[in-house]
Amino acid sequence: MYAVINKEGLAMSPFIRSDKEEEYFLRKEAEKLKKMAEKRRAETEAAEREELKKLHYMRCPKCGMELQEIEFQSIHIDKCFSCGGVWLDDGELDAVAKKEDENGVLSRFTSIFR
Ligand SMILES: [Zn+2]
Repeated sequence: MYAVINKEGLAMSPFIRSDKEEEYFLRKEAEKLKKMAEKRRAETEAAEREELKKLHYMRCPKCGMELQEIEFQSIHIDKCFSCGGVWLDDGELDAVAKKEDENGVLSRFTSIFR
C-alpha cells in the first residue's frame, strides 16, 4: 500500500486524474456555477419587476398620480383626473375600435399597430 503526498505534505488518493478528466470536472463545476448565477440573476430580475409593479401599478405614466378605473360599454378605461390622460390595457383599444364603425378613425388608428 502507498499514498501520494502533495506539495503541502498531505496524503492524497493514489488516483491521479488525467488532463481530460481534470477538464471534465472543471467543466462540470463551471456549468454548476453558471446555472447558480443565472438562477440568482432571474430571481433578482423578478424581484426588481415586482418592486417596479408596486411603485407604478395604477399610477399615471405621464404625471404619476393615481389612476381611476372606469367601465364604459364593458371596456375598462384607466383615467387620470390629475392630467386628464387615459390609459388602456392590452387589447382594450382594439375592443373600443371594434365597437366603432369599420371606417371610423379609431379603427384606422389601431390598424397601424396590427
Ligand atoms: Zn396623469
